[in-house]
Amino acid sequence: MAKDAVTLKQDDPWQVALQQFGAAADLLSLKRGIREFLSHPKRELTVNFPVQLEDGSVRVFTGYRIHHSTVLGPTKGGIRYHPDVTLHEIRALAMLMTWKCAVVGLPYGGAKGGVVCNPKELSEQELEHLTRRYATEISMMISPESDIPAPDVGTTPQVMAWLMDTYSMHRGYSVPAVVTGKPISIGGSQGRIEATGRGAMIVAREAARHVGMPLEGARVAVQGFGNVGSIAAVLLREQGCKIIAVTDSRGGVRNEKGLDPTDVLRHKEQTGTVAGYRKGEPVTNEEVLELPCEILVPSALEGVVTGKNAGQVKARIVVEGANGPLTPEADQILRDHKILVVPDILANAGGVTVSYFEWVQDLQSFFWTEEEINERLERIMVRSFREVLAVSQERKVDMRTAALVRAVGRVADALMTRGIYP
Ligand code: NAD
Repeated sequence: MAKDAVTLKQDDPWQVALQQFGAAADLLSLKRGIREFLSHPKRELTVNFPVQLEDGSVRVFTGYRIHHSTVLGPTKGGIRYHPDVTLHEIRALAMLMTWKCAVVGLPYGGAKGGVVCNPKELSEQELEHLTRRYATEISMMISPESDIPAPDVGTTPQVMAWLMDTYSMHRGYSVPAVVTGKPISIGGSQGRIEATGRGAMIVAREAARHVGMPLEGARVAVQGFGNVGSIAAVLLREQGCKIIAVTDSRGGVRNEKGLDPTDVLRHKEQTGTVAGYRKGEPVTNEEVLELPCEILVPSALEGVVTGKNAGQVKARIVVEGANGPLTPEADQILRDHKILVVPDILANAGGVTVSYFEWVQDLQSFFWTEEEINERLERIMVRSFREVLAVSQERKVDMRTAALVRAVGRVADALMTRGIYP
């Protein structure tokens, strides 16, 4: 019985999210009513809608948009296009967004959306039709004042452009602030593409400083050489780190003497993968997690470090570029091994932070330079890291629990200040 419960919790993202929230709520001694309120999403919408495919057939797709909390402001969160999207996954990610926004002090609650589909199997036109229909179906949930979507796995700046255009057509005027992660030509922000990787670099640098480890020569392994992983690798190398391995879905490359991530990116652009890069040896996605290194940056999928392989992780610091790359079991093992984990809600919050800057710029129709963006991002990430570290030291808990305590505490405070309506 107990064993089943544990298995369920590890497999079901919503159960994992509730479990993590519960640990923070316990430490904060949250009142029962507040705890119960924050354990539920505020509202959930499921839509089933038809899309005409290019061969003339009609297919019905299922999509979701979930608002977890509106306590701190409008909700914010990405839209995922993936065949494995489920209601529980989107619900968990919406809750995670509430904590992510709160931990870096943004005036937002959390939301998430998704469509069960494989965007790689759809033509450009089918993807546009699916996006415009989904945008219409969820239009009562989104607006610059109430809920602002952004890209996530499987969605791109172009998808955001279609979403923004569809919403604007319904309104009769352009509403750029309804989504973030748009192309710069229609109100996107400088620095948004690099923001998550840049934020991950900043917290890795702060974590290294905290453990007294020089970045010069520090060995870094990156799983997932996409947007987050590749930018983090380029920026960490600029800080003096040695990038000893990078991987993507098709394989990886390692070199103890250090790789030039910009050159690896060129290879990836030409061949579609980092595998086969000539100045290194092949490495698998499993091996990359277990290499002797100082900093490990899992930036691909969730649940890659588990109870089975966590004991083999040799890094001193793990920076969660991806959302949820460690299972709760793995978390415990890394804690026992005194490996410092910078949790996802802090480590990859650079993306939502610059999304917030994009929304502010769109609302004001006044745009900032890349230097201004990076400087503000740096300030927020450093401050947030230090605040979480202080909680972790005061309460003698790991950084994930500390980040959740900080975030849940902020939301609970605001909730109590606002009071319960009516
Ligand atoms: P991306 O699609 O640009 O990159 C993902 C990378 O992971 C690709 O290189 C892909 O080949 C690789 N990958 C896929 N399956 C893999 C596997 N089985 N093993 C190893 N590598 C694999 O996506 P991204 O935007 O970089 O996002 C990566 C993660 O970061 C996701 O968990 C996402 O939710 C999270 N995240 C992204 C942002 C953002 O702003 N992009 C913000 C917050 C969190």
